[in-house]
Amino acid sequence: MGCRKRAAKTDLLRIVAVEGACVPDHRGTLPGRGAYVHPALVCLDQAVRRRVFTRALRAPGALDTKALRHYVEQTTVADQAAVADQVTP
Ligand SMILES: [Zn+2]
Repeated sequence: MGCRKRAAKTDLLRIVAVEGACVPDHRGTLPGRGAYVHPALVCLDQAVRRRVFTRALRAPGALDTKALRHYVEQTTVADQAAVADQVTP
């Protein structure tokens, strides 16, 4: 979704729209349309810039991605030391 790279569905993070915000559905249990993105900030940011979620989730307007970005940051800090510095309060 975010990038053009192919990946197995299990490598991707499912995103659903809940009350105007993008919500990570890491267990794949939330109802409704889902969008898939690599759980990486580069892919997420690309998807946000291209408004991939708004289109894929058929949202009437812009979706809030702040909580989703925070979630991805949290899940990727273990792999990326550079990102860890950025998310330190
Ligand atoms: Zn990607």
